[in-house]
Amino acid sequence: MGPPGAGKGTQAKAVADHFGVPAISTGDIFRANVGQGTPLGIEAKRYMDAGEYVPDEVTNNMVRDRIAEPDAEKGFLLDGYPRTLAQVTELDGMIDATGHRLDAVLCLTVDQEAVVGRLLKRAEIEGRADDTEDVIRRRLEVYAEETEPLIAVYAERGLVVSVDGMGEIDDVQQRIFDALDDIPRS
Ligand code: AMP
Repeated sequence: MGPPGAGKGTQAKAVADHFGVPAISTGDIFRANVGQGTPLGIEAKRYMDAGEYVPDEVTNNMVRDRIAEPDAEKGFLLDGYPRTLAQVTELDGMIDATGHRLDAVLCLTVDQEAVVGRLLKRAEIEGRADDTEDVIRRRLEVYAEETEPLIAVYAERGLVVSVDGMGEIDDVQQRIFDALDDIPRS
């Protein structure tokens, strides 16, 4: 977890490689569908371009299908999911049904203004439609309203591992590995 621009995508891939599990990024799956012009992509794009969340039902069904694939049988890392309370509840059900257990909820903490700068830079490099300044501000608002409260929910379950997400990518990665290596895994 962490606001847009915290470095979730970059770090998710490294952490998933480290533990030998797939990184499942809802944002990446939506973008792939947008690129291919699938019905899911066409629906998701309306929300993504405005900086809003794709409806829970659409997102939940997509994640349920993805974690049922064979490569996720031994475990997985979710990047960008869950983002709403309804998604937390759905994920609990999915995890119970597959016999998995949530090992940790990693939170990357970052400075808000630095994040806007990072996102604007990414917009120049990658040309993402949802990286304009207005949309970035909206995405940060939606994160604060809908997703930040989930950290308290997971903290109550004793699952939250907070890591400072500022600084060089490799340094952040090392901090994450150090923090996660101490945690018992299912
Ligand atoms: P991300 O790449 O994780 O920043 O996601 C890009 C966009 O995809 C978000 O701004 C949302 O529009 C959509 N999205 C990704 N994950 C979710 C989710 N768990 N729930 C709803 N919308 C999502």
